[in-house]
Amino acid sequence: MLLVCRFTSSVRHSSIRTMRHFTAKASERPLAQSFYDDKIMMYANKPIKPVTLRQLVRFGQPPLSQSSLRDCALYARTELPVRLARRVRAFQTLPFIVGTNPYIKEIYKLYYDSFEMLEQYSHSRGDTDDMEFAEKLKNLVERHTDNIPTLAKGFLECKQYLNPHDMATFLDDMIKARIGIRLIAEQCIVLTQHSQSQSDGSTPRDDDGTIGIIDTQLKPYQLVRNCADFVAELCDFNYGQSPETIINGHVDTEITYVPVHLEYILTELLKNAHRATVEHANNTGLIDPPPIEVTISQSKEEIGIRIRDQGNGINEEDLSKVFEYSYTTVSNPGDNLDDGAEDGSIFSGMALAAMQSGVGGPLAGLGYGLPLARLYARYFGGSLTLVSMNGYGCDIFLKLKHIDDSFAEGLEI
Ligand code: ADP
Ligand code: MG
Repeated sequence: MLLVCRFTSSVRHSSIRTMRHFTAKASERPLAQSFYDDKIMMYANKPIKPVTLRQLVRFGQPPLSQSSLRDCALYARTELPVRLARRVRAFQTLPFIVGTNPYIKEIYKLYYDSFEMLEQYSHSRGDTDDMEFAEKLKNLVERHTDNIPTLAKGFLECKQYLNPHDMATFLDDMIKARIGIRLIAEQCIVLTQHSQSQSDGSTPRDDDGTIGIIDTQLKPYQLVRNCADFVAELCDFNYGQSPETIINGHVDTEITYVPVHLEYILTELLKNAHRATVEHANNTGLIDPPPIEVTISQSKEEIGIRIRDQGNGINEEDLSKVFEYSYTTVSNPGDNLDDGAEDGSIFSGMALAAMQSGVGGPLAGLGYGLPLARLYARYFGGSLTLVSMNGYGCDIFLKLKHIDDSFAEGLEI
């Protein structure tokens, strides 16, 4: 049962009062006066200092020097508390009743705690505690891993208290900010680890094309193969069968990109294609589900990845909703999350858990796959378009920009 149904009437009354308070313009509201809220305000009011992707790469350019590592750590120390404080403020502007939802509250608290944890490092400039700082960042990244699925559950429970436009704006901002925070934090973590292994002499830095979290020799073919194999396993586990994935086109293409982002996008798109293919094959009595075709293209300007399935496509009416947060044709997603399978639901509790724990694979059945994949694609200037051949299947076109030197110079994080 949804949590919101459990509210007592007194809570409901006070919530209505508080909702009125929160529907007033943010600037008209009295601000919290506690010590930490003042601090949050102080940091949240500071402007963000974007870093370009080129600069992030420069921090980690081999041979890795102590001074570039210092620069990266210094930037992260001063910038991350500002970005975290702004996230805390974003939560504080949500309607009060939404903020009382346990899932939303959990993530709010995580941001609050992370701000407090990092804020103390923004004053210290000693390089002796760089390692300690990197450890804190590692801890932060780990603790925030499930933010989006948790927020998704929260918003599913408070759908009726927030209009879809406000929810989409909040989530777009939250997710874009999260991508930036993670990029900065992870670059700092990876570079500190490299520098430590360099000074230990334990693992000499091999020239594998990676510069921190950026891979300058990323092979889309290999990544598609790995993601397709992973998704096929999930699909077998859930339906007892899975389609083959054929990869063709410019299979030797190499690009510069953040592998975890591309992995995330591909996994979400392939999960959708697998599900549609197998369900349509079952509905039409086909014994073998038809293959999914992935075509890679490379031109001077961009890299294209087209995912073509024969999963019956999407009808006109639903097509306009598929990029909305929470839109899903998985039945009773909310019930599934807590209680496992309901009769007639597509995912069993176990399969859902498996899908949620995979690399880049959370959120199946929550209706966040497509909007998130598109946000990731757009983050570095790319695009994601879905074309439905209704009654036959879907084509998804993913276009990514080459992150070369001149492009990276203008890409702000
Ligand atoms: P979820 O997979 O969690 O339902 P998504 O955002 O990934 O959420 O997709 C939203 C909906 O769009 C799906 O529930 C499905 O109905 C539809 N959809 C997405 N991709 C395809 C596809 N390739 N073929 C048919 N329907 C699709
Ligand atoms: Mg999906």
